[in-house]
Amino acid sequence: MYKKFLETQKTALIVYAHPEPKSFNAALRDTAVKTLKAQGYNVLVSDLYAQHFQPVISKTDIIGELGDPKHFNYPNEVGAAYEKDSLSLDIKQEIEKLKMADLVIFQFPMQWASVPAILKGWFERVLIKDFAFNFLNMFDEGLLKGKKCVLSMTTGSPGGMFTPNGLLGDLDIILWPIQYCTLRGCGFDVLKPHCIFSPAYADDKQREEMLNAWGNRLKNILTEEPLIFPSISNFDANKGFVMSDNYVEEQKNKENGPSVGHHLGKKMPL
Ligand SMILES: Cc1cc2nc3c(=O)[nH]c(=O)nc-3n(C[C@H](O)[C@H](O)[C@H](O)COP(=O)(O)OP(=O)(O)OC[C@H]3O[C@@H](n4cnc5c(N)ncnc54)[C@H](O)[C@@H]3O)c2cc1C
Repeated sequence: MYKKFLETQKTALIVYAHPEPKSFNAALRDTAVKTLKAQGYNVLVSDLYAQHFQPVISKTDIIGELGDPKHFNYPNEVGAAYEKDSLSLDIKQEIEKLKMADLVIFQFPMQWASVPAILKGWFERVLIKDFAFNFLNMFDEGLLKGKKCVLSMTTGSPGGMFTPNGLLGDLDIILWPIQYCTLRGCGFDVLKPHCIFSPAYADDKQREEMLNAWGNRLKNILTEEPLIFPSISNFDANKGFVMSDNYVEEQKNKENGPSVGHHLGKKMPL
């Protein structure tokens, strides 16, 4: 019976990037840990600042001889090191956690319209060639296919600023390089982002409601439909991966573009 439970138990990995244990991001992380454990998940946390996660790619990410010491090619060297099991221990530990995960939550404050540098470094050093993607396996064919992920983030600016006519512009466009080019690029099913705008300017009751809303969403998060992106098969490899003629023809009479990045000069996707 216990064996069966372990076989069906889901694992969630929370990649948490905030340096302050009393921050609102820490409260969101704690809400996720508590809610997911109550749902029966095995919960893993990568607390990047507490781990002193080193965010910069370097030769020391590979233990032993480089394949080509005269010209350092990071993707090729770490790809080969992954195959030979000669990656540095900190990368290996993150990869092992990620392998186990059915759901990955990235918990972070928006910094300069993106993720904090330490989390960008996690993307660069953990989502490596031949583990997360290779040139034959990307996007809906990415090597992390089958895993779900969600950006759970906070901002300093209020929500209205992240609208198409707000000062900072459409949040979906701001998140495109992370959600599509990075996470979908590795095969993740990317769920709708969970963005809490300006928690510092909310009152205590509002902040409590924000935490409850996150907890409630997490109760059924694995049943949510992911964001829709075009398949890599819609892009013609012989033409340098631009949209195939067939796919362009299919889109011709549609009022909306197929995705945020592939808007084709039309209205944003529904
Ligand atoms: C380098 C940098 C760049 C930035 N760039 C941007 C940007 O491009 N766009 C943008 O919008 N913002 C930006 N910001 C602002 C940043 O996104 C916000 O400051 C951050 O998201 C707020 O989240 P926090 O967890 O740090 O909040 P905190 O300031 O830690 O918390 C907010 C409030 O919640 C309270 N709180 C904590 N725990 C609880 C709890 N359990 N229950 C109730 N209340 C609680 C805290 O005491 C505090 O009063 C940037 C910040 C930095 C440092």
